[in-house]
Amino acid sequence: MAQMVRERPMSWKPARRRGEPYEQLPVCCIGADEALLVTAGALEEWRRGYFVAMEGGHNAGPPAHYLGQHPRLARQAYQAGAVAIVLFHFPDTPWPEHTGDVIVVRHRRRWDYPRVLEFAPAPEACALCGAPASEWRETVTWKRPWRERRLCSRCVADRLAPRTVERARRFDEWHRELTPSQRRELHPGIIAEVAALAAPFRHLPMPPEVDAFVRRWREP
Ligand SMILES: [Zn+2]
Repeated sequence: MAQMVRERPMSWKPARRRGEPYEQLPVCCIGADEALLVTAGALEEWRRGYFVAMEGGHNAGPPAHYLGQHPRLARQAYQAGAVAIVLFHFPDTPWPEHTGDVIVVRHRRRWDYPRVLEFAPAPEACALCGAPASEWRETVTWKRPWRERRLCSRCVADRLAPRTVERARRFDEWHRELTPSQRRELHPGIIAEVAALAAPFRHLPMPPEVDAFVRRWREP
């Protein structure tokens, strides 16, 4: 019988850096209780040896992509020069992005390179209004190096409110166009979407329009 050889690429491969062989690029692996910096070569060797026994169970992307789930580790990986994160652990507990402890603002054209806000109160001045304390750490990941600054809750809420009010308005518009049977069928997804829209305001004053929108959907 002919020997079958199957070579599968990693789910996502980091871009080769100028003058640096792919095998030597640093990659950060995140597991349940630890993070390890390894080379892409070591990771490929592991994959060749284990992919038969361990189908799936991990994903990969640039560090910026993981700021919403693991802000501290993603920052450390980026600072250590890692070109990618490989995530092996998918806990049952909700990710900070889903609880409002981390707010991820994505642009359609820069899906993997978002602006990320992490709730981390500190006695450091707000970069926008100069308030003496700031509750948020903002990271803009499409800049090289990443741009970090401190922002107060009022400035964050002021910047998030208009786009959220607009999203709620468009959502209502879309829902009005649905037939009754489509509404029934899509109901679980709709409830999840409303919760996702409200999540960023867990630590922020919610705009009255968004508050009314959320209350309307909570009604039986
Ligand atoms: Zn401010």
